[in-house]
Amino acid sequence: MTITPTLSYLTSSIFFILSIRFLASPKSARQGNILGTIGMLLAIITTLSIHPASNIVAIIGTLALGACIGIYSGLKVKMTSLPQMIAIFNGLGGLSAVCIALAETISKSTSYLDNSLGLIIGAIAFSGSIIAFAKLQGIISAKAISSKLILFLQLSLSIATLFLCIIYILNGNPNIFYIMGIICIILGVLMVIPIGGADMPVVISLLNSYSGWACVGIGFSLQNPLLIIVGSIVGASGAILSYIMIKAMNRSLTNVLFGGIEKSSNSKSTISPQQTAQSGSPEDAAFIMENANKIIIVPGYGMAAAQAQHALKAMADELHNHYGVEVKYAIHPVAGRMPGHMNVLLAEANVPYDDVFELEDINREFATADVAYIIGANDITNPLAKTDSSSPIYGMPILDVEKAKTVFFVKRSLGHGYSGIENPLFFAPNTIMLYGDAKKVTEDIVKILEST
Ligand code: NDP
Repeated sequence: MTITPTLSYLTSSIFFILSIRFLASPKSARQGNILGTIGMLLAIITTLSIHPASNIVAIIGTLALGACIGIYSGLKVKMTSLPQMIAIFNGLGGLSAVCIALAETISKSTSYLDNSLGLIIGAIAFSGSIIAFAKLQGIISAKAISSKLILFLQLSLSIATLFLCIIYILNGNPNIFYIMGIICIILGVLMVIPIGGADMPVVISLLNSYSGWACVGIGFSLQNPLLIIVGSIVGASGAILSYIMIKAMNRSLTNVLFGGIEKSSNSKSTISPQQTAQSGSPEDAAFIMENANKIIIVPGYGMAAAQAQHALKAMADELHNHYGVEVKYAIHPVAGRMPGHMNVLLAEANVPYDDVFELEDINREFATADVAYIIGANDITNPLAKTDSSSPIYGMPILDVEKAKTVFFVKRSLGHGYSGIENPLFFAPNTIMLYGDAKKVTEDIVKILEST
């Protein structure tokens, strides 16, 4: 029996779909990764078998180089730098689509519409991702820019692209195709330049979606079912993820895309200079926590930055096993810098899944908790989201940590979170600031708990 390439591509697609299914839970994520790897291996073997290439050495060499870069970056890149890594990968996806569209045009393909879609979306995803990477990496300013000129240029270039695309479909002139590619690269830059601040992860996810749709265009052009199926999965999942983030941040897509975050500078709430925050020591925290009945831990971006998850688990174990304290974890949907960021880190530290609760399932319990231990989180606890309509986070559901008897904030200063606004909770009478690196402070508490 001979296996046709189409059947083989469909089998790869099934592996990819199952991979996503398994990746949906930390418990099965490893199997998901393995299934995805098998699917990709099958796809590569199938492609090589249909196009027995004369330049096989160059192809194997390139594959090996790509695999080495992938393995190296997978091992070395820190959790907190994952958005940058995804930006680069999206950019590479977009660039591949552009290269294939160009190759198809040079080889006189007549799939004008599919090729154009691959080129337009691929070029925007490519240059947009490079700018997103540069912003996240601090190479260029990460600030949101609101400018009518940029808006005007975006609109003009979008109309020009549409116009050129129609002409190209009608006459197939490759020069029009090349000009369209250049315009879309500029358009990608202009689309991401105005966006900044806490909206960047949303942009990354949108660019991810674009790279998927570019892959679909190229899949139609090459009549490759695998590219069409996988591209649709990436395109749709990127779009859904963007929607989830936008909803969790109580924003709108237009607000994100056209620099709505500049609202932050308009926030009316400021902290008066007379206000002082009480601070405590790890000894104070250990004493209060060992005498508590119920503690809710709220992890945020700073826990990821400090890699404090293992120390946190040790603290929770010590409190539970030696002092009989009930310890739960509260996860906000946008804690950290990507959805699921905190869940992944807690799973890495072997925190039991049953102790981890989503916002809507635990928010009421803060009122009955003795302690809220907020580790490296800020915006997700900020009550201005409920009270200040001029605040950029207004309307975002937040964790009601202030209802706990004692609120500990573990952070290095009274500094801002990602949205750049003050948090009045630092000055509340039941708040105690535990200044320092999240890992160091938590480790110090563990040592004290162990010695008493
Ligand atoms: P925040 O960015 O609000 O706050 C993190 C805090 O961590 C900072 O105030 C910082 O304070 C502290 N911190 C940083 N490093 C350390 C360290 N080594 N030790 C101790 N503390 C540290 O994070 P949250 O998780 O509360 O909120 C996430 C933000 O990201 C929200 O604004 C959300 O909208 C945004 N966002 C999240 C997305 C997601 O999918 N998760 C997507 C899009 C946006 P200090 O400097 O004083 O230490």
